[in-house]
This record gives sequence, C-alpha cells and structure tokens, in this order.
Amino acid sequence: ETLDKGLEKSKTTFFSKLGKAVAGKSKVDDDVLDNLEEVLVSSDVGVDTTLKIIDRIEARVSKDKYLGTDELNVILREEIAGLLSETHLGEETEYNIPKDKKPYVIMVVGVNGAGKTTTIGKLAHQFKKQGLKVVLGAADTFRAAAIDQLQVWADRVDVPIVRQDMGSDPASVAFDTLSSAVTQDADVVIIDTAGRLHNKVNLMNELTKVKRVMQKVVADTPNEVLLVLDGSTGQNAFEQAKQFTKATEVTSLAITKLDGTAKGGVVIGISDQFKIPVKYIGVGEGIEDLQVFNKIEFVDSFFN
Ligand code: GDP
Repeated sequence: ETLDKGLEKSKTTFFSKLGKAVAGKSKVDDDVLDNLEEVLVSSDVGVDTTLKIIDRIEARVSKDKYLGTDELNVILREEIAGLLSETHLGEETEYNIPKDKKPYVIMVVGVNGAGKTTTIGKLAHQFKKQGLKVVLGAADTFRAAAIDQLQVWADRVDVPIVRQDMGSDPASVAFDTLSSAVTQDADVVIIDTAGRLHNKVNLMNELTKVKRVMQKVVADTPNEVLLVLDGSTGQNAFEQAKQFTKATEVTSLAITKLDGTAKGGVVIGISDQFKIPVKYIGVGEGIEDLQVFNKIEFVDSFFN
C-alpha cells in the first residue's frame, strides 16, 4: 500500500490522459495510437521506449485486425511487464544481501539532491532490521552538509559512520570505512560519494580511485554501484543516467521521489534504455518509504 500511495499521482494523471486519448473511440486505430504515443511521452516513459511500446501494439493490431480501446489497459500492462522482464530477471521482494560476500559493499552515486543520503539511511535501516551489521562511509567530502546529513541518518538508524573532515580524499574515507568494517566484522558497507557532474573527467577519476582503493582492503569491491536518480525530474533523470553510466559501471538503480510526481513512467523508460535493473524506489521522506522494486508489484499497482 506504500507503493500504491507512492504511485498515486502518476496513475491518476496517466489514466486521465489515457481516457482522453481514447474518448469516443471503440477501436484502436492510427489516431488512438498517435494519442497514446503522446500520453506515454508526456508520462516520461521516454521517446525510444514509447516507440517500442507503440510498435508492439501496432503489431498486435495488424495481427488481430481489431483491437478494442477497452482492451488497451490489459495490452499496455502486458507490454510494459514484457519490457521490464528484459532487465529484471529476479523477482526480488526483500532486501537481500548475498551471504557469501562479507562485507558486501555498496557504493552510492548520483547528483546532489537526488536523494542519495536519504536512500542510504533507509537502506541501512532495512539491513539493520534484518540483524545485519551496517557501516556507513561519508566519502562525499566535497560538501560539509553531505557529511552532516549522513551523520544525522547514522544517528537515527543507530549505525556506525566513518567520516573525515570536509575536503579530505574520498578514497581515503572509503579505505578507512572498509578497514573499519572488516575489523568490526560488518555485513554491509554503504559508501556515499560526491555527485559532481559538471566535471565528468574529475568524477570519473574520483570514482575510479575510490574503487581502486576499496579493492586494496576487500577484493572485488564494490559489489554494487547504486545510482540514485530523482524520478521527479523526468527526462533529466535519463540524462543523469547517461552521464553516470559513462563515468562508472553502474549495477543498479534507485529511483526516488516517485510520490508527489506524475513522472512514474521514468521507471519503465530508464530500465528499458539502460538495461540496468531498478532495485529500489523511494516513495516518501520517511525511514520506511523505500521499496524493493518488484516488476510484478509495480505493474499490478499501476494498472489496478
Ligand atoms: P542527496 O543530496 O542526494 O544526498 O539528497 P538527500 O538524500 O539529502 O535528499 C534531498 C531531498 O529529497 C531531501 O529533502 C529528502 O527528504 C528528499 N527525498 C529523498 N528521497 C525522497 C523520496 O523518495 N520522496 C520524497 N518525497 N522526498 C525524498
């Protein structure tokens, strides 16, 4: 029900547009498809993914000869579920950490304001609830506020944090964090990083260095590079995904702020375009307002 609440605005906006797109039409024809294309693009599904969906529906129309507009709902649901299946192999519903990787290291990237700190806090809370030992690393040393904010979450969740002064070397913080995690026999390490996009080369160099230094402490880390994107920015989130995937190897996505926005379509478009699974979605500011993304639950919630 958190998911339903979080997607509410996207759903009502989408279905009101869809209603208008098919008004007075009983059959899916070229007009309806044109309107549907507009609805999908304006719902931030992204142009490429929209065209893919429209093509697939067109193919069904020409195969079945007749498609009623009353069936569009079901068909859209099937096609979107199909698209999501291409990236989301697993059907996760829990916060799972592989037991054979200890500590399991998650490096979190994303621009400032995307919801990195909040997502780290919410994740730490979920892992701690499972009885796992969590350590946070404040490697966004570029802004004092970032370190303080992470500290606030560490206190709230009651997990240890490794920090240094503002301006210190992010790689050095990452090194300290992993060393401390090993000493404490921690299960999960979550490292915050700076999200400066204005200088791509710097960003790339910094993330590469952080990774290299981590590997000196624990081999083959980070186990996960989680890119946090603000879903309410719509097309901007696509752009950020493009920039970050160029700067480093991103393995999973968290899309935040889906509550209070009608741009929920980004979840579909971004998974399709980048072929990186959305692992978590943020549906509020509270500590429990993070959901493990499950494609079936998502489609069910959206089309119910
Ligand atoms: P950071 O700069 O990337 O670390 O971003 P923060 O974690 O500080 O988040 C920026 C703002 O977005 C804060 O006011 C958060 O409370 C808010 N925020 C983060 N995630 C969500 C979410 O899922 N929903 C809503 N409504 N707000 C969020």
